[in-house]
Amino acid sequence: MKKKSKKQPHEPWALNNGNKPLDLLSLPRCRAKAKSTGKRCGNAAIKGKGVCYIHGGKSPGPPAGNKNALKHGLYSAEAIAERRFVRMLLKRSKDLIMELRY
Ligand SMILES: [Zn+2]
Repeated sequence: MKKKSKKQPHEPWALNNGNKPLDLLSLPRCRAKAKSTGKRCGNAAIKGKGVCYIHGGKSPGPPAGNKNALKHGLYSAEAIAERRFVRMLLKRSKDLIMELRY
């Protein structure tokens, strides 16, 4: 005789395996903006990306080292590192001044 498996009772909203269903409305939303209306896309964004599959969420992005889109380099890694370094120097000197005042 075949043994019947006892199923654990679960909440009516739960999946058959007892897990909670995915709440699609709570997922992060696509941040792409329509040119015509100016409104946000609003589709669910792809995990790890800020945009949905329509707006480039599946795209791996530009190839590494691509310089075709470089206009001024304000956001290049070197420029960002330099600004970070200057900020750190300013904070240290501010801290030193505060230490010497008291
Ligand atoms: Zn989108």
